[in-house]
Amino acid sequence: MVTRNVSRRCRTPLIWSIDQMYIKITNYASSGGLGKGKRRQCGFFFSGMIKQFLRDVDWGEVDYLIVDTPPGTSDEHLSAVQYLAAAHIDGAVIITTPQEVSLQDVRKEISFCHKVKLPIIGVVENMSGFICPKCKKESQIFPPTTGGAEVMCQNLKIPLLGKVPLDPRIGKSCDEGRSFLIDAPDSPATLAYRSIIQRIQEFCNLHQPKEENLISS
Ligand SMILES: [Zn+2]
Repeated sequence: MVTRNVSRRCRTPLIWSIDQMYIKITNYASSGGLGKGKRRQCGFFFSGMIKQFLRDVDWGEVDYLIVDTPPGTSDEHLSAVQYLAAAHIDGAVIITTPQEVSLQDVRKEISFCHKVKLPIIGVVENMSGFICPKCKKESQIFPPTTGGAEVMCQNLKIPLLGKVPLDPRIGKSCDEGRSFLIDAPDSPATLAYRSIIQRIQEFCNLHQPKEENLISS
């Protein structure tokens, strides 16, 4: 989910370390074998966390706030959409891999977006082939047996933002906290990322909320 003016609607500015928040979420998520009541408590806990994270944190001046949600259409997704709605959400970028098993989940995600009236910026196909860095030959690690994201997007009439091929250097750059776009500027994955970023920016500029138009005019 992409949004750009969260801080403007913050009621109680609260500085909170993201590291701390991350630890708490992992602790609760990994406490397996909970009874029904405890699970419900966890749901409340997550909803509260999401609210605080999105509504009560002073993010300062951000260009874009990108909320990475796990796959699914749970209460937490609904909470995130509801709490962000007040600050205007530009839309959702949906990530899939080429196989049908992933597309099945993504179709559910797409109908969730339609249901909660969250605009879909587009779909990105990740792990879309592998281009050997030595001989540049492309091979399909996850074959798109049902046509991949391309056919799904055609059928559902939503934009395909691009396809990012596998590149082992992406994980390496991330692990080292470095930008893959700077580390491997000529990688086909970098070119795909740049084109996807540009298309997301174009979408956001075209769909500016009225409030922002007023400020800039
Ligand atoms: Zn090769």
